[in-house]
Amino acid sequence: MKLDAIIARSRKFVQPYRVTNGKHFSLTRFAPDDIGPFKKHGKDEAAALLDEGVEALSALQELLYASDTWSVLLVFQAMDAAGKDSAIKHVMSGVNPQGCQVFSFKAPSSEELDHDFLWRCAKRLPERGRIGIFNRSYYEELLVVRVHKELLQRQHLPQRLVTEHIWKQRFQDVAGFERHLARSGVLVLKFFLNVSKEEQKKRFLERLDRPEKNWKFSDADLRERARWSSYMKAYQEAISHTAARHAPWFVVPADHKWFTRLIVAAAIIDAMGSLGLAYPTLGRSQTQMLAKAKRDLQNG
Ligand code: ATP
Ligand code: MG
Repeated sequence: MKLDAIIARSRKFVQPYRVTNGKHFSLTRFAPDDIGPFKKHGKDEAAALLDEGVEALSALQELLYASDTWSVLLVFQAMDAAGKDSAIKHVMSGVNPQGCQVFSFKAPSSEELDHDFLWRCAKRLPERGRIGIFNRSYYEELLVVRVHKELLQRQHLPQRLVTEHIWKQRFQDVAGFERHLARSGVLVLKFFLNVSKEEQKKRFLERLDRPEKNWKFSDADLRERARWSSYMKAYQEAISHTAARHAPWFVVPADHKWFTRLIVAAAIIDAMGSLGLAYPTLGRSQTQMLAKAKRDLQNG
């Protein structure tokens, strides 16, 4: 299938999950077990489409790299076991590792806590021509830190700045940061992998039951699970305050991993396909130089 056709198809797939304006956004309207146009057993069909998508991404990444103007920032946020790692692994499987970087943001170090909350992420932004993936991000400051307000105390902020307005101010700061990035040529795409509480339970039980998956389980996971509704409220607010045309959110159904991957791939293909990427064309003197080099090589 031609790249243009894959881009057009991706646009159609992803449309129901894209949020570009938070005004009327309601997370409850997005079903975690949605599988779009597929039937329950559409897994094989979806896998074939994903293969094409992975190839398309590889072609788009080469164009991105060659044109060296835009960069792409993919932000992944989710509850535990929603499938961030596997979505990243599958969707980027065809991409040249030289043009791609992944950072996982864990609880901040003491050095990081001595800076503003965007600092550690700003240091990891992708250069022009590259794709950067944030596995968790500055959004944790509106999510885990909001759910566990005691974390705010560890940030050494001047007390007079910690007021009831702090969350509103952080929404503004994040939105402003992303606007700045967009204006500087960073394509910002944000993914919330929307898993249901029931499916998370199933996946946790699997992690406990299967020895090769035990390492993935941490008892902190259960503590966070107990705060499910606070997290959903925090996601609702974070998304509604930061969704923008230049930095859209994608609320991706995550109860079926095969569907998650397809939608994530489609979102990236659609957005990169809209950048008007093209291989650089050569000027006259460069074309002449190449012709001369060819002659020299042939005669040498
Ligand atoms: P996995 O799928 O392997 O569990 P993970 O992304 O959950 O991957 P963990 O090491 O389990 O990785 O968890 C990282 C933890 O760091 C999360 O609980 C997250 O909320 C926390 N974290 C990330 N950023 C911040 C932050 N700015 N402040 C406080 N905690 C943070
Ligand atoms: Mg975890």
